[in-house]
Amino acid sequence: MSKKKKGFLMLNYFKPSIYLESYKKINLDSLRNSGIKLVMCDMDNTLIGWNERIPSPNVINFVKSVYAQNMEFVLFSNNVRSRVENFAKKAGIKNYFWDCKKPLLGKMKFVRKLLPYKESEIVLIGDQLITDVLVANRSHIKSILITPLSRNDGGSKLVGFLENIVFKRLAQKNILHEGFYNEGELGGNYEIL
Ligand SMILES: [Mg+2]
Repeated sequence: MSKKKKGFLMLNYFKPSIYLESYKKINLDSLRNSGIKLVMCDMDNTLIGWNERIPSPNVINFVKSVYAQNMEFVLFSNNVRSRVENFAKKAGIKNYFWDCKKPLLGKMKFVRKLLPYKESEIVLIGDQLITDVLVANRSHIKSILITPLSRNDGGSKLVGFLENIVFKRLAQKNILHEGFYNEGELGGNYEIL
C-alpha cells in the first residue's frame, strides 16, 4: 500500500459520523429510529466545562430525554472517579465509567461486555477527535463530534496540540472542516446511521 493511501486511511479513523455544534442539537428521535440503543457520552467539554462541577438543567434534560427514548446512557470519561461520579449522580446518570483512557480500547471492551449491544446500536458523543472519535472508530461504532464547551480542557497541552494537527490534516484532505457542521453520511434525519 502506498504511503499516501495509508495516510488517508489513518485520517479516516478521525472522521465522525455526525458533526454538530452541541449535544443540544442531537435529534434523539432520529437516533432511536436509526436503531441506536446505547448512547455513550464523554463528560468534560461535551456535557460540562472542565472547570464546572454542577450539570446544567439542559444536561439533566438531555439525559432524561435519552432514557425517555428507551435508550441506555453511559457516561464514558477519561477523568478521575470522584469528578465523574459526582457529575453522574447530579445528572441522574445510572451507568458511568471513569479513567477510560480513550482512545485505548480496554474500558470500551469492558463496557461492551457489560452491555452487549451490537456495534450498529451504539453511538459515542464527544468533543475530541483523538480520544472520542478515534475510540469510536476503532470500536466500529458511530460517533457524534461536538464543539468543545471550552477551548482549555484543563488537561494536557499535548492533547490540544495533536487535536489541532489532526483537524488541520482533515481540512487539507477535505474530510472535515472545524465549525462546518454536518450530518455526515447520515442525511437529514440520520436515516442510514
Ligand atoms: Mg471531552
